[in-house]
Amino acid sequence: MNRRNGLQTPSEGTARTRRYLDRIARHDGELNAFLHVDGEGALAPAAPGPLSGWVVAVKDNICTRGQKTTCGSNMLANFVSPYDAHVVTRLRANGATLIGKTNLDEFAMGSSGENSAFGATRNPHDLARVPGGSSSGSAAAVAAGLCDAALGSDTGGSVRQPAAFCGVTGIKPTHGRVSRYGLVAFASSLDQIGTLARDVRSAATLLTAISGHDPRDATSASRAVDDFAPQGVRGLRIGVLKGDLEREGNDERVVAGIQRAAKALEAEGATLVDVALPSAAHAVSAYYLIAPCEASSNLARFDGIRYGARASAADLRATYEETRARGFGPEVKRRIMLGTYALSSGYYDAYYLRAQKLRTLIRRDYESAFASCDVILGPTAPAPAFSLGERTDDPLSMYLADIYTLPASLAGLPAISTPCGFTEDGLPLAAQFVAPAFEERLAISAAAAIERSLGPFDVAPRYADGLPRSLSAGAA
Ligand code: GLN
Repeated sequence: MNRRNGLQTPSEGTARTRRYLDRIARHDGELNAFLHVDGEGALAPAAPGPLSGWVVAVKDNICTRGQKTTCGSNMLANFVSPYDAHVVTRLRANGATLIGKTNLDEFAMGSSGENSAFGATRNPHDLARVPGGSSSGSAAAVAAGLCDAALGSDTGGSVRQPAAFCGVTGIKPTHGRVSRYGLVAFASSLDQIGTLARDVRSAATLLTAISGHDPRDATSASRAVDDFAPQGVRGLRIGVLKGDLEREGNDERVVAGIQRAAKALEAEGATLVDVALPSAAHAVSAYYLIAPCEASSNLARFDGIRYGARASAADLRATYEETRARGFGPEVKRRIMLGTYALSSGYYDAYYLRAQKLRTLIRRDYESAFASCDVILGPTAPAPAFSLGERTDDPLSMYLADIYTLPASLAGLPAISTPCGFTEDGLPLAAQFVAPAFEERLAISAAAAIERSLGPFDVAPRYADGLPRSLSAGAA
């Protein structure tokens, strides 16, 4: 392999792609991580660049020109995007090979991967368990070694929580860091595209490639793109969310994992301080109002006329009704109804406005916490991956699984989830770091310190055989 500049020769790239295509053919029948695999496109020559040889999968709510983009919904089952999302253009320009589109909860609404119209994805560490959601396929594909890395989207935790359940690293950047152009909108004030990989450095490298200003997204920040490569943590002040660790309902193995992570950071020269986010206790209530409100507006475009599926009915109104009744699954309908209700006249002040005020309080909590620390450490999820079917009849318990990822989403802050060990039965445990806006690198550096001390965290043992060797570790 030509290691001089970290690039592979074209034929090495193709061999690597074939290895992954072969692994997908062998393993994805049981995992259901991919909705479409683009073998032909993946074997076509890629441009030279910093991601040469990288085989990357893309969540299927991110538009890819000339290919299906289904959002895991019957509504878009046959929708072919006429253009590439900004991040896809960036990946291609950086030399990445795009291998296919990954499964997700319908329109990214869910925390388990079970809301996909095309079947649930399974957790590579335990096929009876969920991979988390909504970037279920991206996390499972990375964890099973079906690609080098993947893109996901994170509105309230959808990159970080599945990364945690599948034992991989997931980064949600600052809102505005990565262009949302070509990401199918769920809740625009929260939606961000993020990266997943088997090691921290790879997730950071991929984030560097997709970050930067894009005039086609009005909320895209005009900031120079940093190099997100991790640095040392000596002298870094880590704020530990003691209250979160003591919360009733946490799995004790998760808490032990965070304590292990904190000790590892201390051993690397970081200092620990206690911090609190008093209003974050209400993040679930605020998020499950704001996100459905925005979703009810964003999903109004799926009317059977402009995009996707169309039911044939007697008149226009019946066409709308039939299309939406058949095109959307139960969770998407629930969100649209919740949001429409909360925004209706007479309820706006009681619900939406109050949720927005809570959002401000949570943002201020972070501001005060960051007065005494550089990065905040806490759990990504209250428990490891749960069983398939366990929570599908209980939306509230499903929503509560998001309790630790929602605060950073509501505040628009960058956050990373990284593995910090395993349960006795082999389920991944994870730690989350949240940093001030545009300080991704601090969170990435803290995660890398944990990986150095407690890792490396590799592919799920069941899929360890014949995995192509790591690009990031070898070529860096
Ligand atoms: N689980 C959360 C929800 O269902 C977050 C989803 C996401 O981040 N896209 O809304």
